[in-house]
Amino acid sequence: NRSISGRFSQADVDLLAIFANQAATAIENARLYQETINWARTLEQRVTERTAELQTANQTLSRRAVQLETSSQLGQQVTSILDLEELLVHVVHLIQEQFGYYFVGVWLLNQKQDSVILHAGTGPAGEDLAEEDIQISVETSSIIVSVCKTGTSRRVDNVLEAPDYMVVEGLPDTLSELALPLRTGGVTIGALDIQSDQAAVFGSEDQMVLQSLADQIAIAIRNAQFYKVERTRRWFFESLERTGRELSSTLDMREVPGRILEQLSAVVPYERGSVLLQHKDHLQIIAQRGFPQKGQATDLIVPIREGDVFQQVVETCRPVLVDDVTDVAGWQQVEWLPVNKSWLGVPLVSRDQVIGMMSLTRQEAGAFSSDDATLVSLFAGQAAVALENASLYDEISRFNEQLEQMVQQRTEELEQAYQTLEKLDKTKSDFINVAAHELRTPLTVIRGYAQVLETSLVPGESGENRSLLKGIQNGVDRLHDIVNSMLDVTKIDSQTLRMRSEPTKLVNIVDSIHADFRLALQERQLILIRQGLDDLPLVEADPSMLFKVFYHLIVNAIKYTPDGGSVTVSGRVVEPCEGSEFLQDCVEVVVSDTGIGIDPAHHELIFEKFYQTGEVAVHSSGRTKFKGGGPGLGLAIARGIVFAHGGKIWVESEGCDEEHCPGSHFHVVLPTSGTASH
Ligand code: ADP
Repeated sequence: NRSISGRFSQADVDLLAIFANQAATAIENARLYQETINWARTLEQRVTERTAELQTANQTLSRRAVQLETSSQLGQQVTSILDLEELLVHVVHLIQEQFGYYFVGVWLLNQKQDSVILHAGTGPAGEDLAEEDIQISVETSSIIVSVCKTGTSRRVDNVLEAPDYMVVEGLPDTLSELALPLRTGGVTIGALDIQSDQAAVFGSEDQMVLQSLADQIAIAIRNAQFYKVERTRRWFFESLERTGRELSSTLDMREVPGRILEQLSAVVPYERGSVLLQHKDHLQIIAQRGFPQKGQATDLIVPIREGDVFQQVVETCRPVLVDDVTDVAGWQQVEWLPVNKSWLGVPLVSRDQVIGMMSLTRQEAGAFSSDDATLVSLFAGQAAVALENASLYDEISRFNEQLEQMVQQRTEELEQAYQTLEKLDKTKSDFINVAAHELRTPLTVIRGYAQVLETSLVPGESGENRSLLKGIQNGVDRLHDIVNSMLDVTKIDSQTLRMRSEPTKLVNIVDSIHADFRLALQERQLILIRQGLDDLPLVEADPSMLFKVFYHLIVNAIKYTPDGGSVTVSGRVVEPCEGSEFLQDCVEVVVSDTGIGIDPAHHELIFEKFYQTGEVAVHSSGRTKFKGGGPGLGLAIARGIVFAHGGKIWVESEGCDEEHCPGSHFHVVLPTSGTASH
């Protein structure tokens, strides 16, 4: 210090000043050095820190890249795989391979929602586990069950500390677990289970990324399930359609029930099946399949008991499912059949009525599902229709057979009746023949004696004797006519009518008949009109026979026309034309009257011998009297003669009416001889 004088020299002072300067420089240097070192240290630390940060960022980035890669692969694959089991195996493999976890598995809730089943697993022991068909009841306390029940994820850093961790055999090294819900449409269908053999492996970021994978998986599972349902449905409808075709291809009642069981086995597997039809108070097995000794079950009869399964089927008209028949009180077990525990009974409904049922059994309990019952019901609908068709066909066939038998029987009866009729007809013809011949002789005798009597009368004698004699002669003539008609008919019947054939002039025949009836016409105030007869060509015929034809027609016309009427005989030539049955020129003669007419119902019958319309008893007798009775032979003779000439005869009349008298028209067509009448 310069203020303390006398102790330090100037030189000291200067020296010290130099030292001091040097010291100050040294101190400054040291400080600078220290500062530099400190800065360098800080820098190094920051570099280390930055490096560490970079490493973490890199790791995150590469994990993120793996996760993204997995996610996109998953997205691609899950949409292309529609088979559920295949899809799940793929999914667990992909996640396991990408992240290298100890175990990856997919658990799904079963249909009844009462347990979760491991469908796919991978990792050292995963595949074995999946094959073991591991199930956990939803009542069990387990991480997976809690995820499935609550729909929220669980991340467990140390499973040994988790109270509900359930050790799964085959996964002894698990230390941490991440269980994520598989959700679709707000419903949890299962869980994606990821386990690690290191503690606290899963971070919240892992959880987030893997949950997004789980969501993708859930959608894919739903799609695969839909596809499976759709495929099953399509398969079922295809087999139903095929079955329907198969069943409708036969109508044989002996074949249909068997075919039903055969076709059904392709739709729902069963071990023993039978078709039973109800008959009053019992069921009869009409077909069976899978029974131990064939033949023993058919014709088997099962009595229907109060409250038994068949009654349940009838009452509900729905399938009845029994999971274990040994639990059912009063179950009717056929002695010689081994007990099959599962039973499914489906009604056969026809026209809204249960006609029987199909019974299916399987050995193990609870083998049939409600889906099976629905399938069999749909099938039973077709089966019932097929059975109904077959039984209808059977009935029709039986009915046909019966009908055929009846027709056969009736034909035989008819043949017999016909033979009897023929015999009767023959007897009748024989009788007419005999009667006619027998009557002819006494008639000739009477006629002879009448002639003798006539000659013995005094000429010019009038009075009672002569009129008595006239009466006898008239009667004899009438009887003679009848006997002749009877003989004609027998000849026609026996086809022994002998006919001459010569060109015949019809007008002459009509004129001679006209002459015969002149008196009768006068008496009855009837007129006979001839039209177009004179110019008719000749017909090749027997004149005496044609005389009979027109005689009967004209006498009928007179008989059935009330007094004051008219009878017209007209003729015309008919030329052969297309469609006509006459191939040569013909003449047509029509005998018309203004009489009572004939009911169309009798138009054919009146040509049969002895046929008369109206009551025989009320006919008045007499040859030309109005409605005078006759033996019913005239038209039969006329027809026989016309046919024998190759001609045709028929009648036209509106009907029978005695008040308005519509009249009748008898047509006779005869072939001409080809020569003119002049
Ligand atoms: P019958 O000897 O009774 O006259 P036919 O065979 O000649 O027998 O006639 C059969 C039946 O046909 C007659 O009983 C009559 O009822 C009916 N008949 C025939 N010709 C006529 C006619 N011109 N008008 C109405 N009825 C007729």
